[in-house]
Amino acid sequence: MLRARKTPNGVAARAILRSGNGHKYWSDFSQEKQDEIEKIAEEIHQLIFEPKLRNPIKTLDVPIVGNLSTSEKLEVILEFVNIVNGIEVDDQLGDDATGDKTVELLKSCRRVAQRINSNHPSSLGLHPIVYFYTNTGKPKIGSFYGVVTFILHLEKTKSFSKLSKFRKDFEWIIWQDDMVPQIVSKSSAVKARDKVKDFYLKIIDKLFQRIDKKNVIKEIVAEKYFGSLKSKTKDNTSEIQSKEFSRETKAAAYIREALPGSPRCKICGGYLPCRVNSIDHKKRKADGGLGTLDNAQLTHPYCNTTFKN
Ligand SMILES: [Zn+2]
Repeated sequence: MLRARKTPNGVAARAILRSGNGHKYWSDFSQEKQDEIEKIAEEIHQLIFEPKLRNPIKTLDVPIVGNLSTSEKLEVILEFVNIVNGIEVDDQLGDDATGDKTVELLKSCRRVAQRINSNHPSSLGLHPIVYFYTNTGKPKIGSFYGVVTFILHLEKTKSFSKLSKFRKDFEWIIWQDDMVPQIVSKSSAVKARDKVKDFYLKIIDKLFQRIDKKNVIKEIVAEKYFGSLKSKTKDNTSEIQSKEFSRETKAAAYIREALPGSPRCKICGGYLPCRVNSIDHKKRKADGGLGTLDNAQLTHPYCNTTFKN
């Protein structure tokens, strides 16, 4: 893959892969452009791949995209660059002579990565465990492509507030019984991204129709819109004969204990990621609210800056 070395998406993907270091595929550009590319690429790399994932999981502070080999990582990054920028064929844009296009593509990638999980005011602060891992701590790359597509859709339709309104129940549902691995298993993770986005929208739709959160998945399964899906059957631990705990069981035990104790956003009720939060004035400054501990509450950056108002 990625034969074209001078295409803006190819250069952007390689810059993100190396966090702006290593062989400089962008060395023909002006110094100013080179610096800009390296800076943005490093930011994107941090937002998506850090902190490094340890196995078995012993912290909820995990990256959006878990451990991958270098070639897998490059593939994921290139897909990310292409999805965010609506590029359908790798060399569709031709070569980038000045670096302008590469910077433009990187900036949109940074915008989406910041939206997912950062301390930027636009950040939804999606908890990586809830959105991008199974309850045994396995990374779900299909959910990454799906969430990116979902975010682009909410951006286009200006409907982030719809998610915030139902976020607490939305997260309860995707964590209890996530259909994404099944939806993705029928094609490639990248190709399934629109279906995953539709699955998320469907959940919000059901919640909007006042369907009880416990029945949302049942209804979606019954509608067969996503083909035949199976609702979660109990973990078949009775089949395990070994006396040792597997990595998955260790991770699952940790997550089961740790996640319910995670702080939640006081505005939408969704989980707060480990390093992302915003301190909100319960009583607004404009209404005379003071900077006292009593008047402080933890929220997602987006909920504080935009949703509340
Ligand atoms: Zn919130």
